[in-house]
Amino acid sequence: MIPKLSEISPTQSKYLQFIERLKASSFQGETNLDYANRVVLSTDNSIYQVLPQGIIYPKSVEDIKLVTQLSNNPDFHDIVLSPRGGGTGTNGQSLSDGLIVDLSKHMNKILEINKEEGWARVQTGVVKDQLNRAAKQHGLFFAPELSTSNRATIGGMINTDASGQGSVMYGKTRDHVIELKTVLLDGSIIDSTTLKDESLDAIKSGDNRAAHIHKTIDAIHANKRDEIARKFPTLNRCLTGYDLAHIRDQNNQFNLNNILCGSEGTLGFIVEAKINLLAIPSVAALVNIRYSSFEHSLRHAQELLKANPTSIETVDSKVLNLAQNDIIWESVEPFFPSKANEDTQGINLVEYTGNSVEEVQAQIAKLTKTLETNSDQSSGVIGHTVAFGQDEVNKIWAMRKKSVGLLGNAKGEKRPIPFVEDTAVPPENLADFIMEFRAVLDSYSVQYGMFGHVDAGVLHVRPALDLKDESQEPMIREITDKVVALTQKYNGLLWGEHGKGVRSEYAPAFFGDLYPSIQEIKRAFDPRNQLNPGKIATPLKSDSQLLKIDEVPLRGKFDRTIPSKNREQFKEGMYCNGNGGCYNFDPNDAMCPSWKGTRERVHSPKGRASLMREWLRGMSEQGIDVVSESHKAKQKNAVFNFVPKLLNTLSKRRGDYDFSHEVHESMMGCLACKSCVGQCPIKVDVPEFRAKFLELYYARYLRPAKDYLIGSLEYVMPYASHFPTPYNWLISRSWTQHLTSKYLGFVDAPKFSKLNLKKESPRRGIRLATPLALEALSPKDRRRAVIIAQDAFTSYFETELVLDIMELLTRLGFQAFLAPYKPNGKPLHVHGFMKSFERTAKKNLDMLQGLRFFGIPIIGVDPSMTLTYRSEYEKTFGTSRKVPNIQLLQEWLATHTEHLNKRNIKFEEETIHLLGHCTEKTNAPSSIKHWQTIFSQFGLNLESVAVGCCGMAGTYGHESKNLETSKTIYGLSWKEAINNPALSDSLVATGYSCRSQVKRIDDKNLPHPAQLLLTKLKAAE
Ligand SMILES: Cc1cc2nc3c(=O)[nH]c(=O)nc-3n(C[C@H](O)[C@H](O)[C@H](O)COP(=O)(O)OP(=O)(O)OC[C@H]3O[C@@H](n4cnc5c(N)ncnc54)[C@H](O)[C@@H]3O)c2cc1C
Ligand code: SF4
Ligand code: SF4
Repeated sequence: MIPKLSEISPTQSKYLQFIERLKASSFQGETNLDYANRVVLSTDNSIYQVLPQGIIYPKSVEDIKLVTQLSNNPDFHDIVLSPRGGGTGTNGQSLSDGLIVDLSKHMNKILEINKEEGWARVQTGVVKDQLNRAAKQHGLFFAPELSTSNRATIGGMINTDASGQGSVMYGKTRDHVIELKTVLLDGSIIDSTTLKDESLDAIKSGDNRAAHIHKTIDAIHANKRDEIARKFPTLNRCLTGYDLAHIRDQNNQFNLNNILCGSEGTLGFIVEAKINLLAIPSVAALVNIRYSSFEHSLRHAQELLKANPTSIETVDSKVLNLAQNDIIWESVEPFFPSKANEDTQGINLVEYTGNSVEEVQAQIAKLTKTLETNSDQSSGVIGHTVAFGQDEVNKIWAMRKKSVGLLGNAKGEKRPIPFVEDTAVPPENLADFIMEFRAVLDSYSVQYGMFGHVDAGVLHVRPALDLKDESQEPMIREITDKVVALTQKYNGLLWGEHGKGVRSEYAPAFFGDLYPSIQEIKRAFDPRNQLNPGKIATPLKSDSQLLKIDEVPLRGKFDRTIPSKNREQFKEGMYCNGNGGCYNFDPNDAMCPSWKGTRERVHSPKGRASLMREWLRGMSEQGIDVVSESHKAKQKNAVFNFVPKLLNTLSKRRGDYDFSHEVHESMMGCLACKSCVGQCPIKVDVPEFRAKFLELYYARYLRPAKDYLIGSLEYVMPYASHFPTPYNWLISRSWTQHLTSKYLGFVDAPKFSKLNLKKESPRRGIRLATPLALEALSPKDRRRAVIIAQDAFTSYFETELVLDIMELLTRLGFQAFLAPYKPNGKPLHVHGFMKSFERTAKKNLDMLQGLRFFGIPIIGVDPSMTLTYRSEYEKTFGTSRKVPNIQLLQEWLATHTEHLNKRNIKFEEETIHLLGHCTEKTNAPSSIKHWQTIFSQFGLNLESVAVGCCGMAGTYGHESKNLETSKTIYGLSWKEAINNPALSDSLVATGYSCRSQVKRIDDKNLPHPAQLLLTKLKAAE
């Protein structure tokens, strides 16, 4: 039995007092001191891990004023506050051992969009793609681009002065900042914009912190102007944060925003921003050029720049190869054809945008003509393709944006990590710089992948190290020092794009004699060094120190304490690299419903993976081998174990602390939808490690009754389904519903179908797939035969659907057989009944293998249950048993287009709208395309409706404590689609869960795509 984990690092008493005093004020926001929340916010995308004392989630500017005013109280002068947005920084910018102030949870409203004047006013917790979605309705967009646009906040962008693809054309974030509202550490507010001298003088004449700040900075400009001009490199990626060179803008107006942008939360809380929006170019296209070497792609970029593109991005073969094994490849494959004798080692993506098709086509024609006429060996060009139109272009940008994540999925323990990942040099020096950079990495025999903004001279390089191995740690300093020297040699910067963070230790040397001016600015804003200390600058004349790249705790330091055996057992969560792809804000994207429904980061894949690692660390500290614990859990006799479990459960009820309870809470919020498995670039598989955790957790504590109810469903249903009428009557009574909700924790139990599949099948002439029946088939019949594998949900709750599928297949000329019913085990796996799952899966597999012997394809009805065979079954049996390929209905039917074609059945042209199941969309990415192929055979157009998760996910939505979140998730995207009058008569849905959720919430019956085809087929006869 696993032990209790009660020893955690507690919040320091001064911080407890601070939070108490804050809560006693008129503060309206939330605070959280739970160890789980602190652990989850102890990482960003960097190599570091720093445990904060707690988290504050302000709801308004007033709340932040209260926080800062309190920190200004002499009792709390040693309190540290660190602002945080999406937490996607790559250099520990938002990490802190003080209090994290997370503006992304509540302060995320778009306050105003002014179409005529082209600007937006936002709270700074707004995500960049969230803003662009709203601006799009006005034909506008916020131009600075970054790969994390679906999760990085405007506040984070301003504070790192973010930019990325397209920066040569559109500049950096600060080029689009019009006004900022900043709460200072004394609780006062500065509204900053460009100032004429009269306005500047008026502010300076005051007697407050704003006056002091303006006086300090204006004096620096007046006294050091020449030195500043000499010092700063003229790069597209000019210095970010405390940008002395731009204290005054090109019109000689004072602009505090150029100091604030890129200041990484070290000067104040930027709470609102008025930012510039541009008109969306109506046409976009990409020329995708392939090269025989990466060096060729870098050098050729200089030539390409002469063709005046909007942007040029480069990607090396390592990233490209990883993309080929990701869900993303499905959408971009045609643009990167692989030909025999052609070895693509690098690509350049050359973008053109414009306001007319002709204009863009002319630009492309000019470039492609040059490529074709100059296709000599020297340029290294081996071919190109063109992607025309925003949809196509977006697919390729999505692949490029996923590069970092993809790199993290490299095999082995050495994984690409950020520490020298965003150097910038003048573009003409880039190729030579990179050749030397590569030589440095080669001298350490380090692998790496490269991609970046070749037009701006910024290349992202992530060397692959395993920081769990202590001997590799020194390479961080050694390589960084060498790269810093190289950037100096090539007149560039170490911090080209992602900010300084922990790498701020290189700032004093870089700024030289101007560094004290930077410190003066820090002192004017933050005299006691309370705000995100250790980053960029310490206040002048203070004893404080900047952080050092090898003194901040590394995540690897914690991970290495987990024995490799335990890491291997929970490998599905160990490699999460924190890139935050699972914090995707888009409600129409499947990833991750529990995060979207709660906005709690503990309820995200990253949150769960972080907790899993910390839990394993705690177990390892206590000498626990989780592999043998799992083995013991499977062996133990439930009766023998009951008493100790009861005692532990009673102590839990009394409130005894065990970190496992916090981990359990987070795991129980997971819908097991498996979108993380499909969409996370690292393939973090929460349902898999969650099931392993639950097995161990419930070896120590008693399970709730509802787990046994859910776990036994598949076994009980065949018997209970014989009495549909009394059962359905019983579960419809309000008192029964009240009792099952209260005592079993189960709501809205589904009703049995009136038809019984076992009885109805012979009446409809449906044949059972028995070895005898299959063996008797002639070779000709065998070729047209197919077996339907049953699942409990459709067979007993949607019997009509199974019968309809059988009928459709028969009418289409196939020989359809029904496999005998056997529990599949998915509900057992979801709840961590690992031993029972294995037993159930084994029996199911025995039956399927017996049928598969005859070489007849087997297909499943419900996507989620069917995909269990290729995921949970494969993982459980590994190499010990071969799991037969059980296909989705559409995967199989789409391979019979020739047969369908011959039957020549054409319906009246119509567009049908498909709501795909999220497990299916993310784990079998071609599944939607397959339905489209099938529908087109019948002359029907099938469009996929962009929706996220429906919120039901098997039994999740039926658990009383999940009911509200389940409905919230449904409301994020499904509700609108279901109630859209333009779609209402043409919707079909593939998932049993989705159909039952629609019925429960909107009382609408959605057909399965096969049912729609059958209805049309019957009507046509
Ligand atoms: C996979 C990946 C790809 C990336 N690609 C790019 C890229 O293309 N271009 C690019 O520029 N960056 C990129 N980054 C880095 C990162 O996404 C950006 O720096 C982003 O701007 C950070 O935004 P955030 O909301 O996550 O901020 P956080 O990481 O939460 O914070 C960043 C900094 O801003 C401060 N801060 C946040 N909000 C506020 C506020 N309201 N007031 C005061 N201070 C605040 C924090 O204290 C911290 O110092 C990438 C990161 C990853 C993981
Ligand atoms: S779970 Fe996956 S997507 Fe989320 S942060 Fe970790 S690696 Fe990135
Ligand atoms: S399975 Fe679904 S709900 Fe659970 S962590 Fe993964 S994406 Fe989130």
